[in-house]
Amino acid sequence: MSRLPNRIKHLQDLAENLIWVWKPKARELFKILDHPAWNSTGHNPVHMLQIIPQERLQAAAKDPSFLKKYDDMIHSFQETLETQEKWFTREYPEFNDEIAYLSTEYGLHQSLPIYSGGLGILSGDHVKESSDLGLPFIGVGFVYPQGYFKQTISREGWQQAEYENIDFSKSPIKPVPENGDSQLTIELQYPTSLFLRVWSMKVGRTPLYLMDTDIEQNQPWDRGLSARLYGGDNEMRIRQEIVLGFGALKILAHFGHNPAVYHLNEGHTSFAVLELLRHEILDKGLSFEEAKDEVRKKIVFTTHTPVSAGHDQFSFELVSKYFQSFWETLGISREDFLSLGAFDWRQGDGPKFNMTTLGIRLSRYQNAVSKLNGEVSRKMWMNLYSSPEFQNRPPLSYVTNGVHVPTWVSGPFQNLYKKYLGKNWFNRQDDPEIWERLDDIPNADLWNTRHAARQHMFSFLREKTRLHRIQGDRDSRLTLAAGALLDPEALTIGFARRFATYKRADLIFHDLERIKKNLLDPYTPIQLIFAGKAHPQDDPGKHVLQNIFKKVVSADYGGRIAFIEDYDMQIGRYLVQGCDVWLNTPQKPMEASGTSGMKAAINGVVNFSILDGWWPEAYRGGNGYVVGGEDFSNKDEQNRYDAESLYDILETEIRPLFYKRNAENIPLEWCDVIKNSIKTVTPQFSARRMLKQYVRNAYLPSERK
Ligand SMILES: *Cc1c(COP(=O)(O)O)cnc(C)c1O
Repeated sequence: MSRLPNRIKHLQDLAENLIWVWKPKARELFKILDHPAWNSTGHNPVHMLQIIPQERLQAAAKDPSFLKKYDDMIHSFQETLETQEKWFTREYPEFNDEIAYLSTEYGLHQSLPIYSGGLGILSGDHVKESSDLGLPFIGVGFVYPQGYFKQTISREGWQQAEYENIDFSKSPIKPVPENGDSQLTIELQYPTSLFLRVWSMKVGRTPLYLMDTDIEQNQPWDRGLSARLYGGDNEMRIRQEIVLGFGALKILAHFGHNPAVYHLNEGHTSFAVLELLRHEILDKGLSFEEAKDEVRKKIVFTTHTPVSAGHDQFSFELVSKYFQSFWETLGISREDFLSLGAFDWRQGDGPKFNMTTLGIRLSRYQNAVSKLNGEVSRKMWMNLYSSPEFQNRPPLSYVTNGVHVPTWVSGPFQNLYKKYLGKNWFNRQDDPEIWERLDDIPNADLWNTRHAARQHMFSFLREKTRLHRIQGDRDSRLTLAAGALLDPEALTIGFARRFATYKRADLIFHDLERIKKNLLDPYTPIQLIFAGKAHPQDDPGKHVLQNIFKKVVSADYGGRIAFIEDYDMQIGRYLVQGCDVWLNTPQKPMEASGTSGMKAAINGVVNFSILDGWWPEAYRGGNGYVVGGEDFSNKDEQNRYDAESLYDILETEIRPLFYKRNAENIPLEWCDVIKNSIKTVTPQFSARRMLKQYVRNAYLPSERK
C-alpha cells in the first residue's frame, strides 16, 4: 500500500523506473522532497519513499513550487514512455523484431550492486542508451542476492570483502508475479534440473529480466549458484553459465518474445546458443548442420578482453558430465557436440571447451571493443579463424565502447552545454559539429564550471569521511586516507578502476623520490586520488593496493594521496567529474577498451594515458597526453620507460600548463586542452555512437543495412 498522497502518487512510478538515474530533473525532484533521506539512502528513491516522514509527504503534496516541478517531471516521464519519437523506428520502420541482450552483470546505479567493473557498466550504459534511441531491446541477466562485495581496507592496508544481502523491497527490482501474488518461477529441465526465480526492472523504455536460484525448491548447492558475482570454482561456473544461457532463453520464451537478434555480451552467456540449437533440431526438425546455420543468423557476439583468464574454458569431462544427456536427446554425437566449443589454446594443455570459441563459432557477427583490441583479438583467435570452417566468413570486427553521456556528465557541465551548444545538444550528442561550438565558450565560464565540479567532488569526499568518522572505531589514519587533507586548489590526478595487476596502479610510484618532488612542490603541487577493488581471489592485486595504501597513510607524502574505499558507480562518477587529470597506465595491449577516461573527458577532465584500448583512436595531440609510446618485450624495461615518460610529461607539460594562470587566475592554455578533449571525445565515445554502430553493423540483417 502506497504511503504517497494521491496528488503525488506518480513519484512511485518514477522511483521504480531507473530513468531517473539520467534525468537531472527527476533526481532534483527526489532531492528537494527530502534531502537527508536522499543522501542517507545513497540516492535510492524506492527506499527513500518508504522512510520519508508522512508529514513531509503531506507538505510536499501541498507545496506549489514542488508540485510545479512534479507535474513537469511526470508529464515528461510519461511522454518519454508513451509518445516520444524513437530514433530507431524513424530510421528503420520496417524492422519489427526484437533484440535480446544477454550479460552476466549490469551496472545501472550504485544502489544495485550487480556489477563488478567495466563490463557491467558497459552493459548498463548499453541498456540505457537503447531506451534513449527507442530500440526494441530486452536485457536479460542475473540478480545476485549478495551482489558484489563491499570493500574495506584494514589498518595494514589489506582489502577485506563483506557481502550484504540486497533487500529487493528497497530496490526497483520487482518480482514478476504469477497467479496473483507469488513470484514466477521457471523450471530448467536440462542440461541440469533446477528452478529459477524471475525478476524484472524498467530502464526507461527498455525492460530488463533478471533471475536467481535462491529458492526452496532447489538443492542447497543450487540455491547459492547465483548468490555472488564471480564466486566459486570451475564447476560452479559451468552451472552458473548453464543457468544464464538456458535460463535467459526460457524467460524470453515465457513472455512470448522471439528475438531476431541475440547479442551475447562475452562468453559467459554463450550456452544460450545451445538452447537455440535444441529448438531448431527438436522442434523444427533440422539437421545439426542446418540448425547451426539457422542459429548463427541470430547471434551477435562481443569479446571484451585479451586476458586469457577472462575466457572461460571447461574440460571435456566436466562438459560431458552436464551435457551428455543433452547431446543424446538432440541425436548428435559427442564429437559433434564438443566440436562446438573445442579449442586448443594453450599449447600443451590439449583442447578444452571454450565459451568464447562457442560464441564465435555460432555467431554471424563478432566484435572486439576497440580498434586496437580488434587487432589483438584477431591475433589471439587466429588459429580458429584460419581453420576451414571459417572459410568465407568475415573476420572479427570491432565496435569501440562508448559511455552513456547523461549518466556520466556532471550537473555543472550539463548546464554549460545547454547554454552554449543549445537546448537540443542532448539529441545531437554524437554529432561532432555541435561540439565545434565549444570554442565559443569563454574560458572563464569553462573554468568556473570545472571549479564547481571539483568542489562537488571534494564536498562529497569530505562528507563521506565525516560519515565514516561518525561510525566510530575507525583509526584516524583511515580518516586521513579518505582524503581529509586534500587541497581543493591543487592539480588533482585520479586513478579509479579495478585493481587488476595489468592496470599498474602503482606505476606512478616507480621512482619514489621523483613522485615525492611532484607531490610536495610548494608552488605547483600535484595530488593523487585512488579508488578500486581487487578481485576477491586476486592476491597480487591486493598487494598492489596495499603498497599504495602504505603511501597514502605515510607522513612522507604530505597527505597528498588519498584512497577512497569501496569504489562504485557513485564514487566513480564524482571522481571522473571532479579530478583535473585522469591517469591510465595499463600494460599494453591488455586494456581492451577502458571507459573511465571517456567519462572523464566528457567532464573536462584531461586524459593522461598509455596508448592502449580506446586512447589511440581518440588521441590526436593537444587533446590530452600520452604515457610512454615505445614497446619493450621486457616487463621491467617497459615499466621503467613508461614511468620515466610519465614523470617527464607531468613535469614539463601538465604541471606547467595547469598552473600557468592569467590575471584572473585562469589557465588559458589548459582550457584549450580541455576544450579539445571534450570536443574530440564526447561525440565519438558516446554510447549513442556505439549503439548506432551496433544497429548498423550487427543487429540489422545484412540485406537491410
Ligand atoms: C567506468 C567504470 C569502470 C570501468 O573503468 P575502466 O576505465 O574501463 O577500467 C569500472 N568501475 C566503475 C564503477 C566504473 O564507473
